[in-house]
Amino acid sequence: MKRSIWFALFWALFLGVMSVRAAELPPMNDAEKERIRLIVKEAIREYAANLNDKQGRDGGAKAIVQGILNGNRNFVRTHGPSYFKPFLDRQSPRATVVTCSDSRIQDQALDASPDGDLFMVRNIGNQIATAEGSVEFGVRHLQTPLLLVVGHVACDAIKAASGDYSQESAPIRRELDMIQIPKGDPGLGSVKLNVNHQVRDAMNKFEKEVLSGRLTVVGAVYDFKNEMKLGQGRLNLINVNGETDPAQIAKLDLMREDASHKTAVRALPRYRSAVRKAPAKAAASEEEPAQTGKKAASH
Ligand SMILES: [Zn+2]
Repeated sequence: MKRSIWFALFWALFLGVMSVRAAELPPMNDAEKERIRLIVKEAIREYAANLNDKQGRDGGAKAIVQGILNGNRNFVRTHGPSYFKPFLDRQSPRATVVTCSDSRIQDQALDASPDGDLFMVRNIGNQIATAEGSVEFGVRHLQTPLLLVVGHVACDAIKAASGDYSQESAPIRRELDMIQIPKGDPGLGSVKLNVNHQVRDAMNKFEKEVLSGRLTVVGAVYDFKNEMKLGQGRLNLINVNGETDPAQIAKLDLMREDASHKTAVRALPRYRSAVRKAPAKAAASEEEPAQTGKKAASH
């Protein structure tokens, strides 16, 4: 409160002096105007920086920044040079991971030491299309053998996309528009459907890499509420290179403990037609890749 009074007095005085001077002096040249503009800009910047002390929730931004700095100090204290050594000069992550920005989904749930290991791409609704460049960077430049799409239960983006979001801002509407789910189902069914669509889009985009066996695309649902009754906090795989039948997924070499990423993609030629036929953006049936896979599997 005190600060704002001083700020108001400063401005009253400043404007008063300026108006008296304006009456007495000839008009300012451009250099003088620019100097005044910079002084005013700096005063406003200082004022705004101080304002942050009292804004926001949980004690304001100051308390949050202090909390983050404390957390980082602990991290520095407990991680010596040997921790950073393996990835000082270059990164070679094992997986490109596309997940939702939701704060309840963090990479520690997938990997105890994700540093240098997971190339993380995050956005609302774990989408390929709204982060295409980042996903491509992971798959093609960093050459990760795995592209993992992680959806999650109780997803606010899915909830929003399944309802009326016409009142949202244009940037948010643009991202929600890309989520192809039916209206009226904000739950697990739509979460899975969206993950399957993302896998399909990824397989279309990286068809060459997938069919050559260099890339495996996996879709999963992170279940921090145990909605799927398979364990709270569990990552449940629901789609492997277009295969969505749990029984078929369970049989894949990929799911065996001694498997390497290369073994799972041996089954890929059966999905070749599914990849080519799947429309890139249309809301296709969730079952389409699975049916193709089942038919092929019976051969
Ligand atoms: Zn989400």
